[in-house]
Amino acid sequence: MKDKQTIFSQFVMTLIVFLTAGMSACTNEELNHTLGNYLGNGSTIAKLDQNNNSTNPSGNATVSRPNSGHVTNNPRSNIHGNTALGPSCGTGKSNSICLGIKYIVYANSYGQGIVNQQEAFQNLEGINRVWSQCGIAFQIDQYLVANAQDYRLRYNPQEYDELNDIRRTFSDDVTLLVVTTGKWMGNLDGPANAWTNMPGEIVYGAVMESVVATFPNIIAHELGHYMNLDHNYSDTTNLMTQVIADNSVNLNQGQCQVARDGIQNYWQRMLRS
Ligand SMILES: [Zn+2]
Repeated sequence: MKDKQTIFSQFVMTLIVFLTAGMSACTNEELNHTLGNYLGNGSTIAKLDQNNNSTNPSGNATVSRPNSGHVTNNPRSNIHGNTALGPSCGTGKSNSICLGIKYIVYANSYGQGIVNQQEAFQNLEGINRVWSQCGIAFQIDQYLVANAQDYRLRYNPQEYDELNDIRRTFSDDVTLLVVTTGKWMGNLDGPANAWTNMPGEIVYGAVMESVVATFPNIIAHELGHYMNLDHNYSDTTNLMTQVIADNSVNLNQGQCQVARDGIQNYWQRMLRS
């Protein structure tokens, strides 16, 4: 079974359009990945190229900077990840679900995160707006700027296997993992911009490249896969459509139930109250 890829013949979306090529419900572990593809307009690409250009050609990014490397800005975070770095989503209401995220961003050549903390919270706001339809919310327990080299990882990943290396490096069993790397190159260079391992994989985590770093819909989409949702091929306004646009934000009750079940079955330790 081969990953199904959808090809655009026309580019009709206004601002940003993501083409996701993934798999439908498939039990083959190897195929239990979700692939987000990116198509964007010039302005977005130009903006993101600035990020890309900040990596020097040698890939020798972010050395000898005091704030490079693995820095947590939240000393209150503990190993259980129960303390939100920013807004907490725990309301104590019985019908609301709150999950903790570990938000890793690679450091660029200036020692700055590809996504700064404020941008991470802006993403979070967008993600939570979408997922509020299901009574599900997220909080950032940890925001870490990571110098990839410190972890023997490449700022610009080139192979699919590296994505699991990234997951193994940063994942734990108490937070959902979201990682933003530099631009993908080599065998990862192409339309794909994000991969999320679905439940059933050996190691978990959503990994995306810098070009989609500030588009919350794709992160919300990847979190949908994280919670065991497959693609919706019939409704382009659905969050889980293979084509993710600015208006791809809807979730139906069936999807909400799948996500809730996914959380109960796989991510109870990520729950916050
Ligand atoms: Zn997808």
